[in-house]
Amino acid sequence: MPVPLLPRIVPGMSAASCIGYTLRRSRYLNVTNRCTLRCSFCPKFNGSWSVQGYDLRLHDEPDAETLLAAAGNPSEYDEVVFCGFGEPTLRLYTVLEVGSELRRRGARVRLNTDGLANYVYGRDVTPDFEDSVDAVSISLNAQDAATYYRHCRPPTPGAFMALLDFTKHVREFVPDVTLTAIDGLEGVDISACQRLAGQLGVAFRRRVLHQVG
Ligand code: SF4
Repeated sequence: MPVPLLPRIVPGMSAASCIGYTLRRSRYLNVTNRCTLRCSFCPKFNGSWSVQGYDLRLHDEPDAETLLAAAGNPSEYDEVVFCGFGEPTLRLYTVLEVGSELRRRGARVRLNTDGLANYVYGRDVTPDFEDSVDAVSISLNAQDAATYYRHCRPPTPGAFMALLDFTKHVREFVPDVTLTAIDGLEGVDISACQRLAGQLGVAFRRRVLHQVG
């Protein structure tokens, strides 16, 4: 298990915590500030916790009830996205519970993830997503392991392969899977990342360095 960057805190919300926020026509849920990775380009390591004016620093981790309340009325949004400055799958069972309930209420649910959940939990968790998530966006971030390690600083040398393996498995259970990479990071070959996504049979989306949200 990776060492969490921030301690797990008992649920119970502070008034200052931003749990739900809206970008364009999507509602985002801020699940945790903990991460498996320590990405060198992450704004939170440069002292910025802001996304489009929303301060995503959590003082407490929201429980399922709080997340559902923060999601609001799904009919007002194109989708509800588990995201924030942290890795949502570090709270896998809360994400599954909330995702299932949101889908029951008619939401399209997307998970933004580092793709390392199988590594973290020591089992293939991808079947768990079948009833809880409609789409998964996975941060590929690099076309090869060496470049990935340089920028994402994972806790284990096997992380890049674990990410690729997660991608292969999750496409069996989630209809919409996308790999993403950030254009502008030194050594990252966006075309090669796109080719890799094609080889894995999933979609690809290019992101741009320093553009968050
Ligand atoms: S996974 Fe995301 S939130 Fe976590 S360190 Fe990397 S960029 Fe930051």
